[in-house]
Amino acid sequence: MVNAVYPGTFDPITNGHIDLVERAAKMFAHVTVAVASNTSKQPLFSMDERVDMAANVLSNLHNVSVVGFDNLLVDFTKTHNASVILRGLRAVSDFEYEFQLAGMNRSLAPDIETIFLTTAEQYAYLSSSLVKEVARLGGNITKFVPEQVIAEIDQKLG
Ligand code: ADP
Repeated sequence: MVNAVYPGTFDPITNGHIDLVERAAKMFAHVTVAVASNTSKQPLFSMDERVDMAANVLSNLHNVSVVGFDNLLVDFTKTHNASVILRGLRAVSDFEYEFQLAGMNRSLAPDIETIFLTTAEQYAYLSSSLVKEVARLGGNITKFVPEQVIAEIDQKLG
């Protein structure tokens, strides 16, 4: 049975991410959602807040866990006994960066495969940064993130 790691910033986790995890949970023995500390993206939420939000909304999935990390992804993947890195693809614009990342990770760890799941079409335009932008401008984000996450965003943005 194969274990997978699903890395990302998850700032915050959206319905697009959740859909991907739900589908992956049916394919892999265990899925570790790996929340990157990722200071280069200057996240709105701290790593602990992002981990807590994701763990909260994924708590119904029994073979899924959520962990923060700030080391090399392939090392994290090996430590978690996983042989697959899972990523999501929305538009063609995701492809170039994802292709580069997968190539680099293969070069660092040839035994680890990157596997892509394509987005559910209703989430194809959905990203954490757009959700934050819409929320900042007072738009309705109920279709894009779970209720618990809306409460956290409201609190953060005041
Ligand atoms: P990163 O900063 O690593 O891109 P994100 O949290 O933005 O982290 O995304 C994590 C992964 O989830 C990426 O592979 C991204 O392409 C994928 N993803 C993000 N939003 C969606 C969505 N709406 N549908 C499918 N995959 C998505």
